[in-house]
Amino acid sequence: MDLSTDVVVVGGGACGLMAAWRAARHGAEVVLLEKDRRLGCNAEIASGSLPAAGTRHQRAAGVVDSVDRMACDILAKNKGQADAAIVRALCARSPEIIGIFEDELGVPLELNTDSSRFGFSALRLHNGPGRTGAPLIAALRGALESMANVTMADRTPGTGLITDQAGSVVGVEAGTQRLGAGRVILACDGFGANAAMVARYIPEMAGVEGIGVQGNTGDAIRWGMALGAATAHMGSYQGHGLVCAGYGTRLVPEIPQLGAVIVNREGRRFAREDQGYSEFAREVLAQPGGVAVAIFDQRMFDVVARLDHWRNTVASGAIKSAPTLAGLAATFRLPWDAVQGSLRDCDGSRPDPLRRAALPVPAVAPFHGALITGTLAHTQGGLVVDVHARVLRPDGTPIPNLYAGGGSAAGISGESADGYLSGNGLLSAYGLGLIAGDHAAQTLRR
Ligand SMILES: Cc1cc2nc3c(=O)[nH]c(=O)nc-3n(C[C@H](O)[C@H](O)[C@H](O)COP(=O)(O)OP(=O)(O)OC[C@H]3O[C@@H](n4cnc5c(N)ncnc54)[C@H](O)[C@@H]3O)c2cc1C
Repeated sequence: MDLSTDVVVVGGGACGLMAAWRAARHGAEVVLLEKDRRLGCNAEIASGSLPAAGTRHQRAAGVVDSVDRMACDILAKNKGQADAAIVRALCARSPEIIGIFEDELGVPLELNTDSSRFGFSALRLHNGPGRTGAPLIAALRGALESMANVTMADRTPGTGLITDQAGSVVGVEAGTQRLGAGRVILACDGFGANAAMVARYIPEMAGVEGIGVQGNTGDAIRWGMALGAATAHMGSYQGHGLVCAGYGTRLVPEIPQLGAVIVNREGRRFAREDQGYSEFAREVLAQPGGVAVAIFDQRMFDVVARLDHWRNTVASGAIKSAPTLAGLAATFRLPWDAVQGSLRDCDGSRPDPLRRAALPVPAVAPFHGALITGTLAHTQGGLVVDVHARVLRPDGTPIPNLYAGGGSAAGISGESADGYLSGNGLLSAYGLGLIAGDHAAQTLRR
């Protein structure tokens, strides 16, 4: 070995930074390898919505919630296909994650009360400033940079695992360097940027341009498979059905929850707008041209106007406006008669054939619209882990010294895009990072 340390963490996104921080706080010597900071991580470009139950923010807002209720919502959305023990373990740690960011890392969080979310029985998404994930990542990086027992190596991709003759993981390769480690934590996210793996495991998204970062090429999952690790839910992913076609920005998930009406090129609605934006991606891609138009009004716009994420979308030019709904339909070359019929379907005057919840329809001028399409945000399948985040073989035994979390581990969203509940990505990333960092450091032989 060129160097030996207690814990090597591979990947410097949500899971890796949290794992490194926790392990270092327990006194472990930690080396964190990051492929390339210039590519960023998905947790930075995410909305940064952290689901948590039983927080002081919920209590202050009079929201009644519990860990059990949160776990039931996640399991209901994935139709019981995810590992219930892991779901419960993550939900149980969720308020702690909020406390870490606020009390230990100094990131102010707020409960998102702008709208409800499909599949949530209580308001429980917490966000940082501007509703992006970047402040969370910056705070963790800042904390790690000040710790003497942490070495952060940027532009240093891990390239493989090192094992001994008994099959225990004893280190990581980084190009020609061999790093010995008591414990290795894999936090390289999933394979959203690996076209061949997407085509193989998620054929419905083959050839679709994803919106995740380019560094997430499934490295950790492939290394684990090569060691004989079990994998699960490889066809599972978070889709995104609100991406502004041709602009590289996206609508915030609140817009359909507030009552936007979404029609295809023929002016017809095709799916209930207030379903999860993950499964909505496939619905949009199935429309003529793979696009749709989201129609909303100034009242809905005003609710989200203060968010950085929304300001970026507005600045990109993706949102078009008109003083009347007929004018907006003309802007997008939609047949006005059909649009009128679509608006009437959900204004409460007759039963909605698509059965969306009773939401207001766009009624307050000016009116706004965006051409949207569907895409893949990040993958949710990966290495099977136990409640300590240890990577398991198909027979359920752990591969000694190896941990995984975030998108490198099998997620909590079941088998397809339909099982993804908002927040599942970061819950698995920060939660399994926390669990892996603790367990890895606490079980080191000293
Ligand atoms: C557009 C978008 C919006 C999202 N919004 C939300 C949201 O609001 N709430 C939510 O819960 N989830 C959201 N997600 C999902 C969430 O971002 C991910 O689930 C989460 O970031 C996964 O954490 P991670 O640590 O596994 O991966 P990441 O945060 O992506 O970090 C992985 C890191 O590993 C590095 N890496 C990869 N391979 C190697 C290697 N071989 N060696 C070294 N480093 C490597 C990468 O460069 C990267 O920095 C969103 C995702 C996208 C794309």
